[in-house]
Amino acid sequence: MGIRTGQQFLESLKDDRDIRIDGERIKDVTTDPRMAGAAQTLAELYDMQHQPDLTDKMTYTSPATGDKVGLSFIQPRSVDDLVRRREMVKIWMDATCGMFGRSPDFMNINMMGFAASFDAFNRDERKLGDNLRNYYEMIRENDLALTHTLINPQVDRSKPVEAQSKDLAAKVVKETDAGIVINGARMVTTLCAYTNELMVFPSTNIAVSDDAAPYAFAFCIPCNTQGLRFICRPPVMHQNTASPMDYPLSSRLDEGDGMVIFHNVLVPWERVFIYRDAEMCNSLYAKTGAMRQIMHQFSTKNLAKAEFMMALGFALAKSTKIDVHLHVQGMLAEMINIVEFVRSCLRASEVDAKPNEEGVYTPADMPLWTVRQMFPKMYIRMCEIIQILGAGGLVAVPSYAELDGDIAQDVETYFESANANSKTRIKLFRLAFDTAVSTFAGRQQLYERYYSGDPVRLAGMLYNIYDKDSHVDRIDALLNDLEARQIPGAQGPLFRPKYAAE
Ligand SMILES: Cc1cc2nc3c(=O)[nH]c(=O)nc-3n(C[C@H](O)[C@H](O)[C@H](O)COP(=O)(O)OP(=O)(O)OC[C@H]3O[C@@H](n4cnc5c(N)ncnc54)[C@H](O)[C@@H]3O)c2cc1C
Repeated sequence: MGIRTGQQFLESLKDDRDIRIDGERIKDVTTDPRMAGAAQTLAELYDMQHQPDLTDKMTYTSPATGDKVGLSFIQPRSVDDLVRRREMVKIWMDATCGMFGRSPDFMNINMMGFAASFDAFNRDERKLGDNLRNYYEMIRENDLALTHTLINPQVDRSKPVEAQSKDLAAKVVKETDAGIVINGARMVTTLCAYTNELMVFPSTNIAVSDDAAPYAFAFCIPCNTQGLRFICRPPVMHQNTASPMDYPLSSRLDEGDGMVIFHNVLVPWERVFIYRDAEMCNSLYAKTGAMRQIMHQFSTKNLAKAEFMMALGFALAKSTKIDVHLHVQGMLAEMINIVEFVRSCLRASEVDAKPNEEGVYTPADMPLWTVRQMFPKMYIRMCEIIQILGAGGLVAVPSYAELDGDIAQDVETYFESANANSKTRIKLFRLAFDTAVSTFAGRQQLYERYYSGDPVRLAGMLYNIYDKDSHVDRIDALLNDLEARQIPGAQGPLFRPKYAAE
């Protein structure tokens, strides 16, 4: 089959999935007013793959069928492949201002990363790694969209999952010839209303014990599987706007977040990739290059997002000519620094990429870890800069609808600025409001803080994997050298000059 059209994607969502929002079950996520905007945006992304000027940039030929398949599924065999893939991701990310963090390319690349090391999952005669490889090929050939859930519910974070007094986390409750049966809950499932499949993988460390074994698994199932229910947060989209131009991002880019509940859900064996294997769960990223591939994808998202924020900053500053002031130029320069920092790290990760034992190219990890750790703070600073630049104007522009109302003359007269007529100024400032002030903006900031894990524990992880010994050795060597070359009685220079004066 290969790449889907937007229409095929929308049709695939009419599958009687159990999506709850605002106390209701959604009949059709493609038409419900709270969800249709994001569904439409995703359909547009799928259609872009068919656009004559974009097809070659967004697809490649399937090694299995010869069909055109999405480039985010590619197993990169060279640095050039990584660059091509990044350019493809950037097309989707530019189209969504980097605000659709879980667009399907995220999970396509994630699953490719695991499948590229499928043999690591083949730990016994059940050959669960082969299941993973087959699954990756199936989603690639059918262009399926995935949501994922990695985290146990927030019940008691002072205890491990198997020691909770309220046992709410998803776990294996039964094993049959047909598969494993799962009961309980997981969080978060961003994009769940719009995806075909749910990926359930481990994230936090699991004890290697009989008590913890029922929580140690990985699998994928269709979103409309019997017993599966997604309970979503209320939309961030404003429900009663006079014009969609008042909330131009919220109305199109609310990808939705939810909890997933498993009511005795049967997962067929061919969809199980890890089973009662805490050791595999805990070494998932060490045994595969998946995290590096994912970081490459989301750093591209960060680049698109930072470029959008910078462009918005330039446009705001130009509109009211505040860019003549030095501190404004300083803040815009900060935005330039952020954009160029992310771009440089991304490029460095590609240039220093290495093939794994299967010949799949894996980006260098440290430049991407640096983006992962620093971008949340940078993004929040960019939102702050937009607020500082827009100031009172962010709340002193009216609805776009006023341009056609009975006070249109006043609106055209009094909302002009030095470099923009009223219409442009209202559109621009409403965009800035939605980007940096609205509920959508708050959710984006929360997303950047947490989408890739808890920054506190990630910082600890980075510290633990970083090669520290060579640096400590260097300090030891310096101290030993200084000690050996002490200048008797000298108070001055630390180093004895190589060519002392005669
Ligand atoms: C907008 C958004 C979208 C998301 N989308 C997805 C998704 O699609 N799929 C998915 O799987 N996940 C998703 N996540 C979840 C994300 O992975 C988690 O939020 C993240 O891993 C942090 O876990 P938590 O939210 O359970 O926080 P908690 O673990 O409950 O932490 C809350 C606070 O307590 C501290 N804390 C808790 N336990 C410890 C500890 N053991 N050591 C030190 N500090 C601790 C943390 O530092 C943090 O400040 C999303 C999150 C957000 C905000």
